[in-house]
Amino acid sequence: MKIGIPRAFLYYKYHVLWETFFDELGIEYVVSPKTNKDIIKRGEMHAMDESCLSSKIFTGHVDYLIDKCDYIFIPRVASLGAHKDIVCSKFQAIYDVINNIYREKNLKILYYSIDILNKDTELKAFLKMGKFLGKKKVQVLKAYYIAKQAEKTAKMIEINNQNNLLKNDKLKILIVSHPYNIYDEYVGKPITDTLKELGSEPILACVVDEKKAREKAKKISPTLPWTFNKELVGAISLYFEKVDGIILASSFPCGPDSLVNEMIIRNIKGKPIINLVLDGQEGTAGLETRLESFVDILNLQKEGGIHE
Ligand code: SF4
Repeated sequence: MKIGIPRAFLYYKYHVLWETFFDELGIEYVVSPKTNKDIIKRGEMHAMDESCLSSKIFTGHVDYLIDKCDYIFIPRVASLGAHKDIVCSKFQAIYDVINNIYREKNLKILYYSIDILNKDTELKAFLKMGKFLGKKKVQVLKAYYIAKQAEKTAKMIEINNQNNLLKNDKLKILIVSHPYNIYDEYVGKPITDTLKELGSEPILACVVDEKKAREKAKKISPTLPWTFNKELVGAISLYFEKVDGIILASSFPCGPDSLVNEMIIRNIKGKPIINLVLDGQEGTAGLETRLESFVDILNLQKEGGIHE
């Protein structure tokens, strides 16, 4: 059995966990390539028009994988934490959405389902998936714990590396964006590449101790319901003193981000902030111009030329 993993959405948050889990169980998998024009085109052709760019990209990756594997891996996540926390409904719905888009192809989907508010934990979800894959419970448990350890280590290394970047003399710009946007070759990479070319250091809000960030977010907005947005909001607070400016980068049209970005702009004062809406259109000239102006302003401010 060969599993196809779409390089989109939760892949960027959980790929170490997933890949280590499948490796430990000896399950073969293929990951779709980095997002390119062809994948964007496939996503736009098959996804609903109203979908956000990120979910169109996910659909494009699924479309690429059809015929290249036996099962496509599409986890379903409804809630990840206690206290009424939920995630964007797309992560709960995407399994059914993809099933429906490709109903005539009889797509085979491998999934797990997490809904902490209904006591469906990650461990339970992985145990069920392991059983479906024909593995013994003891094997699955071992694979899961090894994968969790690998995930923890990878996260620690990522945070340490970013902490080292914070020590250099460059202008630091915090990018507040979901991992599936900022790490995406087509959507987020032009932002980080441009900032680096302009001599600044992009700092990613998604590279953070998630638990600490969620705690911090409660102080900024105690009622914010979306776990992934909480982590980004809390990261602003954790990195605030170490960065010179903040970029909010969201895919079009993102419901949660549009509300949360508005809240950030109103509540977080004392650092220049710009809001970039990413629509996947070809050409990065407009983006580069906005980033150049922003970096110029931050440089001027750093040199004492602009006063708040
Ligand atoms: S949070 Fe926004 S970008 Fe992410 S899946 Fe939901 S609507 Fe799309």
